[in-house]
Amino acid sequence: MEERNTIYLCLAHMSENKMEEKYVQEAFDTNWVVPMGPNVNAFEQNLADFVNSKNDGSEPLDRKVVCLSSGTAAVHLALLACGVGPGDEVCVQSFTFCASSHPVTYLGAKPVFIGSEIETWNMDPVLLEKAILDRKEKTGKYPKAIVPVALYGMPYKIDEIMAIADKYGIPVVEDAAEGMGSRFNGRILGTFGKYGVLSFNGNKMITTSGGGALICRNAEDADEILWYATQARDSYPYYQHTAIGYNYRMSNVCAGIGRGQMTVLDDHIAHHKHVQALYEKLLAELTGIHIHKQPTDSRYDANFWLCAATLDPDVHIQGQENAYKEVVKTAVGGAAGVMHTVETATTDCQPNENVEALRVFMLGKKVECRPVWKPMHKQPVYDGCAAYTDGVEEGLFKIGFCLPAGPYVSDDDVRYIVDCIKEAMR
Ligand SMILES: *Cc1c(COP(=O)(O)O)cnc(C)c1O
Repeated sequence: MEERNTIYLCLAHMSENKMEEKYVQEAFDTNWVVPMGPNVNAFEQNLADFVNSKNDGSEPLDRKVVCLSSGTAAVHLALLACGVGPGDEVCVQSFTFCASSHPVTYLGAKPVFIGSEIETWNMDPVLLEKAILDRKEKTGKYPKAIVPVALYGMPYKIDEIMAIADKYGIPVVEDAAEGMGSRFNGRILGTFGKYGVLSFNGNKMITTSGGGALICRNAEDADEILWYATQARDSYPYYQHTAIGYNYRMSNVCAGIGRGQMTVLDDHIAHHKHVQALYEKLLAELTGIHIHKQPTDSRYDANFWLCAATLDPDVHIQGQENAYKEVVKTAVGGAAGVMHTVETATTDCQPNENVEALRVFMLGKKVECRPVWKPMHKQPVYDGCAAYTDGVEEGLFKIGFCLPAGPYVSDDDVRYIVDCIKEAMR
């Protein structure tokens, strides 16, 4: 039998005609091997054209985009520009990757975690308003910013969130790192708030190997972000500083990859949607497993970065009796780097045994299947942070998992993956 390659959750995928190499070569040929230059400028323009486009026939927007070294850096600078500092609080969606909340702590501020609603799995507007009012009562101040997250690309309830933000005069930083190209009401996510975060890490919708960008309302805001991203220098012949800045600008080499990737972004989005539709069709016949769909409200238009699903607790999965018996020795998921070794195989908040068994079973079939993000308010590092939740995200963490959805995933792969799931349920 032919040996299968592992099907990963989402892998970087270069354009057929190697446009990335062309632009990277240009950087070398013109000696722009620095964190600025023609590729950075052109990539920013490509991104601005993309985010400003609307598919409802109305006038395009006029947002500016600043390219940065990572999506995490984009969150950090957006919060800084919102005036977040020591002693402040920021309302962050709890159900997310740590890059949404960690930058709050870089600034000496505290995250206030907001639970999710069940429809989009994103920030619950009702809990958001409850949190804002309660923080005002308890601390005397309103939170300084609101960070909703487009989890797995799904748009948040942006109308409701913006209405609350406007009511209390609190800026919104949209974390659209996973939601690049998702739209709400025809408009690209990241263009609704004061700032919008994009990520070009290796596993996102497009990649620059590593990188990110901040969508800004106007040129003035973009200039301020650019200033902070280049060590905050004042215009003297020598280096004069009136603020603390960061070295967060994108490399011109990386931006070359980004320019090439922009030529396939629309294809990638279409492919992710296609894969999701096929999963929805094939998984419909299985009982006990539920794919996370977007609301039927036609304003929602998710990119379906990853396919997320849930498994009912009463579904038996092969090998679940042995789940969590052994300490995991390798990283679950794609993140490279050093992981602390741990003493125990379990924590007080983890996916159900059948979900863990499904992950292990699928790994044996060479399919990467990953738990959904563990809510931030359940992370030991955020012990003691305020959280406003109905328990929706914690419930989803116990039953949720993600399936591969990147450009490399073929129709045949999806059929194979669904067959493997059926086998696991037998
Ligand atoms: C990937 C990601 C980011 C930013 O990540 P970088 O790896 O720093 O580019 C931010 N928020 C969320 C929710 C993400 O998934």
